[in-house]
Amino acid sequence: MKNSVKEIEKLKKEKDAIILAHNYQRKEVQEIADFLGDSLELAKKAATLSSKIIVFAGVSFMAETAKILNPDKKVLLPEKEAYCEMAEMVDIGKLKELKKKYPDAAVVSYINTTAETKTLTDIVCTSANAVKIVESLPQKRIIFIPDKNLGTYVKKRSSKEIILYEGFCYVHHKLIMKKDIEKIRKEYPDAHLMVHPETPEEIQEMADSILSTGQMLKEASKIPEKTIIVGTEIGMVDRLKRDIPDKEFIPLTMRARCRGMKEITLESILNSLKYERYEIFLDKETMEKARVPIERMLKVK
Ligand code: SF4
Repeated sequence: MKNSVKEIEKLKKEKDAIILAHNYQRKEVQEIADFLGDSLELAKKAATLSSKIIVFAGVSFMAETAKILNPDKKVLLPEKEAYCEMAEMVDIGKLKELKKKYPDAAVVSYINTTAETKTLTDIVCTSANAVKIVESLPQKRIIFIPDKNLGTYVKKRSSKEIILYEGFCYVHHKLIMKKDIEKIRKEYPDAHLMVHPETPEEIQEMADSILSTGQMLKEASKIPEKTIIVGTEIGMVDRLKRDIPDKEFIPLTMRARCRGMKEITLESILNSLKYERYEIFLDKETMEKARVPIERMLKVK
């Protein structure tokens, strides 16, 4: 592992490359990243980069977003199979039908969508800014794509009429269960439980706070309880432990593991840098259309 790290560092310098990594990446991948963050932080960072090559340790929609914001740079995704299952749930035909059915509605797409979905979107959002984005729009009716749980979270906090789509993240929707909370609450009765808004409503209602991963990092040190239970993908626990060593972080369940995120390893990053693979290619028209809703989001203060 030590040798891989050294080689990665060497190749990064030689090729003028930068590694961006999501908070759900493996611990060792987080440790070699030049920049680590949630989807919003990574999108913002991607918009400001000057290096020739961007290696994206995350899932494909994130690498696509980096490419859309940096069309002249080489963007690499180290593993072909690193994709987000929720992003793949959008049926383009169904989305077009919804747009026809509700012509007065704005389409707000979660950043966890493919470039093609973004071309049919008015504005993108992340879990950190979803309520703010929805509230910033003049339209009263919103088609919210694709996460029904984040959509429900927004619906409860917004004055708008929200039309939900039947998408979900299998990690948060299926692998984090009510029985996990009941068990862990007995084990750690004094702990604070934070969960991600991609969890179902009944899980959110059992939690002490509902936060995006970026917000978890900002808020955890302010939480008075010493022990914090983390209800999101397990990679986040490594990030929290490293950044806030004076608190104790416990994963709500070790089942909450994202297959797509965990595809990326040190070895695949090394090979990605060595052979400059797998490059993200998007046609010009798709990039131009998909850039509009991303840039709109980045402008909302
Ligand atoms: S944790 Fe869920 S939403 Fe995030 S990349 Fe994995 S499947 Fe997609």
